[in-house]
Amino acid sequence: MKVAIVHNKEKKTLEVTERLKTLLSQANIGIDEHKPELVISVGGDGTLLAAFHQFSHALDEVRFLGVHTGHLGFYTDWRDYELEELVDSLLTNREQSVSYPLLKVRVSYLDEKPDQCFFALNESTIKRSNRTMVADVYIKNELFESFRGDGLAVSTPTGSTAYNKSIGGAVIHPSINAFQLAEIASLNNRVFRTLGSPMVIAQDEWVEIRLENTADYLVTIDQLDMPKTNIRSIYYRIAKERIHFASYRHMHFWHRVKDAFISED
Ligand code: NAP
Repeated sequence: MKVAIVHNKEKKTLEVTERLKTLLSQANIGIDEHKPELVISVGGDGTLLAAFHQFSHALDEVRFLGVHTGHLGFYTDWRDYELEELVDSLLTNREQSVSYPLLKVRVSYLDEKPDQCFFALNESTIKRSNRTMVADVYIKNELFESFRGDGLAVSTPTGSTAYNKSIGGAVIHPSINAFQLAEIASLNNRVFRTLGSPMVIAQDEWVEIRLENTADYLVTIDQLDMPKTNIRSIYYRIAKERIHFASYRHMHFWHRVKDAFISED
């Protein structure tokens, strides 16, 4: 098995990464940073997001595994003091694997530039910072509403506990193959009207957001910012591809949510 390690720069993470490399080498598991079968992220959920984007071109070949060096994460199953057990589980392949839905994002431009496609593991947002964002929201090619406000966020189930939660979106169990559209500070009055509540969109449906002005949008895909360009519309649906995790440690999802947001047991 060939393994790549992606880590953050924190002191503790660097120590854990060195220890992990030693254990992998003792188990005759090789490191291959370019064509790995397994990508181990050491850090937090943000580090796993970075690892995902580094290898999102090879989702069929690559499995992911997260070791967390801080608080319990949503994508990081192994603790830093469990490295021996982790390496042992890679050799014996005892643990389960699991896969989660991804968001497919297709960006269309006003000029001749060809469409671009991306995967989001958490979410994609469209915002306009200094002026009101004006956009038409289409669901399955039918105009649903005209949005005015700060922006819109489209999230995966595993991303529902991230930015989506901060803007009042629902937390969605990751076994549900759907995505969520949530508003960021919409303008609602007698003139402008949107639904005003987050919507969960089914896996065979798609959402297209057609932008009115082209000038100064900020489009994000997880922690990545897209350069400002002449975007005409952004199209979202659940991807056929999924992210696969190796050696997944089963933890009751709602226990993880409670642990992260309410109280530690
Ligand atoms: P960051 O600003 O350094 O960290 C954002 C925080 O979100 C970190 O504490 C991270 O956990 C946590 N997080 C990431 N994915 C999560 C998930 N699926 N469920 C629960 N918490 C999660 O940014 P970053 O590390 O580059 O991560 C980018 C993500 O930050 C975006 O995808 C977005 O969801 C989130 N974000 C949230 C807000 C907000 O809530 N207002 C604003 C901007 C961005 P770790 O500490 O374990 O890494």
